[in-house]
Amino acid sequence: MERTALRLEGLEASVGDLEILKGVDMSLPYGEVHAIMGPNGSGKSTLCHVLTGKSGYRVSGSVLMDGLALAGMAVDERARAGLLQAFQYPVEVPGLGLGVLMEEAADSLGITEEEAGARIASEARRFGMEPFLDRAVNRDLSGGEKKRSEIFQMAVLAPKVVVLDEIDSGLDIDTVREVAQAVSEMRSDGTAVLMITHYSRILDYVKPDRVHIMIGGRIVDSGGPELADELEEGGYDAVRSRLGLAVHATPRPESKVSDLFTDTPFDFD
Ligand code: ADP
Ligand code: MG
Repeated sequence: MERTALRLEGLEASVGDLEILKGVDMSLPYGEVHAIMGPNGSGKSTLCHVLTGKSGYRVSGSVLMDGLALAGMAVDERARAGLLQAFQYPVEVPGLGLGVLMEEAADSLGITEEEAGARIASEARRFGMEPFLDRAVNRDLSGGEKKRSEIFQMAVLAPKVVVLDEIDSGLDIDTVREVAQAVSEMRSDGTAVLMITHYSRILDYVKPDRVHIMIGGRIVDSGGPELADELEEGGYDAVRSRLGLAVHATPRPESKVSDLFTDTPFDFD
């Protein structure tokens, strides 16, 4: 029986009185890339946080990864079960070499030393990371190299599902293409990829298997890559009017400095 890597049913999330996700349903098979696109404030980063198990949200509905219910599992338990998120702004870790980090991460996931060594060597070759293994994590790497490093790290850990929140933001066009290539490599390994993006640019290079449009905490439309083209042409208002949704019925959320840091927009602790 074919198993779905990730299945969301009626996923809701709120913070205090604010309902952010209002019932998200989706099904992501192994070896597919699904893009989630949506305007600012539609709940995309919240979806990532809720999937990876970040605290601070009241969550209901179901999230199944390969049939396993994730509700109540902590961030590290979900990672061990095979769900990884790439960071939008990878940090430098002075004094910790990338190779050593990967050995430790693999060990914490129960991968044997021998297997870890073999995977680190082969994935480093595949993603051109060999020169960086002895350097401190992310030290003096360009924006594109950092993203490539993130994908290399994920490939070593061979996750079931990866969540990428705006991995393309702030990258120049050549780097976007390079990151897209790395995402396609993960897909070809059979990993399921949930890719959140503002712009359709990266989707010219990673042809997504499906595109979902999120507006107001719901997936309002799903389709093939042509949906991204429609967005490129007419923006979200074109989608809203095709679906009979009010155009700008809700005020646009004010932008806040915290919106620039989608990995850690709010501090709960
Ligand atoms: P996106 O990533 O699509 O831009 P977010 O998921 O970051 O959107 O946010 C969706 C909405 O929920 C925004 O209006 C945001 O301000 C609000 N929001 C998200 N997290 C919190 C929180 N912890 N407390 C209050 N409001 C929040
Ligand atoms: Mg966001």
